[in-house]
Amino acid sequence: AAAESTVAFDGRFARELTELAVPWQAEEAPGPELLVLNETLAHDLGLDPEYLRSPEGVRLLVGNHVPPGATPVAQAYAGHQFGGYSPLLGDGRALLLGELTDRSGRLLDIHLKGSGRTPFARAGDGRAVVGPMLREYLVSEAMHALHIPTTRSLAVVATGRQVRREGMLPGAVLARVAASHLRVGSFQYARATENLDLLKRLADHAISRHYPRAAHAENPYLALFGSVVSAQAELVAQWMLAGFVHGVMNTDNMTISGETIDYGPCAFMDTFNPAAVYSSIDVSGRYAYANQPVLAEWNLARLAEAMLPLIDEDQEKAVAPAVEVLGGFRGHYSKAWSSGMGKKLGLEHAREGHPDAVSGLIDDAIAILQDGPVDYTSFFRNLGNAARGDLRPVRGMVLDLAAFDAWAQRWQELRPDAGLMDSVNPAYIPRNHLVEEALSAATAGDLAPLQQLLDAVSNPFTERPGLEHYMEGPPEDFGKYMTFCGT
Ligand code: AMP
Ligand code: MG
Ligand code: MG
Repeated sequence: AAAESTVAFDGRFARELTELAVPWQAEEAPGPELLVLNETLAHDLGLDPEYLRSPEGVRLLVGNHVPPGATPVAQAYAGHQFGGYSPLLGDGRALLLGELTDRSGRLLDIHLKGSGRTPFARAGDGRAVVGPMLREYLVSEAMHALHIPTTRSLAVVATGRQVRREGMLPGAVLARVAASHLRVGSFQYARATENLDLLKRLADHAISRHYPRAAHAENPYLALFGSVVSAQAELVAQWMLAGFVHGVMNTDNMTISGETIDYGPCAFMDTFNPAAVYSSIDVSGRYAYANQPVLAEWNLARLAEAMLPLIDEDQEKAVAPAVEVLGGFRGHYSKAWSSGMGKKLGLEHAREGHPDAVSGLIDDAIAILQDGPVDYTSFFRNLGNAARGDLRPVRGMVLDLAAFDAWAQRWQELRPDAGLMDSVNPAYIPRNHLVEEALSAATAGDLAPLQQLLDAVSNPFTERPGLEHYMEGPPEDFGKYMTFCGT
């Protein structure tokens, strides 16, 4: 029997925030072909994987089959890109199909990227290509497996159309799932319209979907702002702990929900380097690894500015409380980062009895990494083995053995917890050279390396035989890694 569609998209965003929603249709894909489907996620969403694999399901996943009642829209937003304000960005090549309630009762956005030009496309062609869409699929699923809040990936469908980039490349559409696609830039856009009612509805929508407790606060909008500050402080701390460089932290790429979004030029660092930058357009290093907390705080200041008229009718009176709440970012970030680093070193239990010893060990571990060159991910994974008594692998990675031995002795005296370390220090991450290898093969038609890498990074903390090569750093001839936006 042919699988039947039971997909009933809600259109809550389009209904409540019409001013931010342009009803639109996806471009027709001449030969849609499903490249990868996230069956677990489909199941969680109450979608039948068999249906999604059917011709109609695949057409749904590229936006060409619109279920009855659905109203796909392109979303309007503004944003600061590399510090410069663009009053109108919006979904230039994306569509929100609508929302679905998952099996645990959460309302989630189903969104397409690469589905054709919209009224926000400006000079863009509205399209995306297979490599970068698979890259987003792979990295976002890896982030999810690392317990880092993120948009998810449901599917990548090749469109059957060749797309002009540097040469011609196969086109694709990514189906993405998110708590919502509300961005700092959505608030900036709403604020700029000077329609206070719209700004209010946007904030109420955000409170209802992401921070319902804020509704009961004395000042719900200040509470909403504070919730975003906390969520983003925690998110960026997780990025830093994982060695993740987002690469394009423009305000339109920062969510209100606290999920990581927009996997364009992102990368995981191999060798620890605070100045790590991979994006070809980030020539000043604005979004370098070590700058991420500061830039997140900068973006949140832009959110505060957009929200001032909600925080107090008299905007002048809103400034002081907003500044105070924003001032909480640093403390929140530091706490999340130190707590995470304490776990990475297996010292969570020692924090209470020996707080200074633990923070000293954290600082000195960073100094050892700085002294480098040390592979960030392997250092911590090997340190787990050191906690079990085998110091050789991690010792073999460092240059200053005397400094390391002195550090290791202090560390071992606190009896690091190897089990905890293995549960937070991944063995498998989407290393740049592995990602490139898998994407080249996929673009040439061989999806096996991608599937294998996806299997590895989807279960990152448990070492399995046969996957040893995924734990190695890049080959010496890999060179400087460079990533791209809008591909
Ligand atoms: P990003 O750098 O991915 O955050 O994108 C910034 C803006 O450029 C967003 O408004 C995107 O919708 C738009 N954009 C990126 N690539 C394209 C494209 N190929 N066609 C149309 N719009 C695009
Ligand atoms: Mg973006
Ligand atoms: Mg992008």
